[in-house]
Amino acid sequence: MPDTSPSPLTPTPPPSCMVCSGVAFIPLGAHKGHEIFRCTTCGLCVVHPLPALEQIADIYEDYASNDLYIVKTKKKVARSRKRLKRYMHLAKGKRFIDLGCNIGTTVEAARELGLDAHGIDIDSVSVNTARKIFPAGKYHQGPLETMPADWGPFDLAFFTEVIEHIPDPHAYFEALVPRLAQGAVLYLTTPDAGHWRVPKRFTDWDQVFPPDHIIYFTKDAMTRFLDQHGFDVIRFIWSHKPALKVLARKR
Ligand SMILES: [Zn+2]
Repeated sequence: MPDTSPSPLTPTPPPSCMVCSGVAFIPLGAHKGHEIFRCTTCGLCVVHPLPALEQIADIYEDYASNDLYIVKTKKKVARSRKRLKRYMHLAKGKRFIDLGCNIGTTVEAARELGLDAHGIDIDSVSVNTARKIFPAGKYHQGPLETMPADWGPFDLAFFTEVIEHIPDPHAYFEALVPRLAQGAVLYLTTPDAGHWRVPKRFTDWDQVFPPDHIIYFTKDAMTRFLDQHGFDVIRFIWSHKPALKVLARKR
């Protein structure tokens, strides 16, 4: 019997890569109807088309699984302290910000270590919790553009597990960079789409869950992206898990 079913529509890739401007993409499949593509030049993987903004906003509204977080709070502060101790010596001053600070565990760790600790997050539940449980830290709720004018310029910024959620990372960095001092150190973590442990079938990777995660960097894509925004990579930190951890310095 001839197959009369319509052939599945070929997914349409983005017109060009937002990092390297490359125009060749490999379709990686879909998750919950969101198609994902890999740029063949820099390896950046993106959901295309981007989910509607309302869909993304919905996630943030109840993003903080805060009951669980509070239970794990002490552990988290200790872990952040360890991480800060490892990298804070690279910074030339004490002004610190955690971008996407959630309930403030890293802000608290930074404060305990003598840094001038700030945190910003768009989620109001998280920020309210942070203010309650770590009242000594300085917090701002809202997008980066609304940060108090007298904050910064920062010497050290943590940006962990956030960029993969942001539809327009270029716009984010355009707002961020003026708030950082020259020579400021950025510590950024995000899933590593170029890691040897990412499953062959990309959508099998446990980090692939659009519309929550929408952009997946590789070392190459991250190096190019940071360079475009005026950062030199100090180094990538080795990770057994498919996690990209990078230290960079603002030129
Ligand atoms: Zn690219």
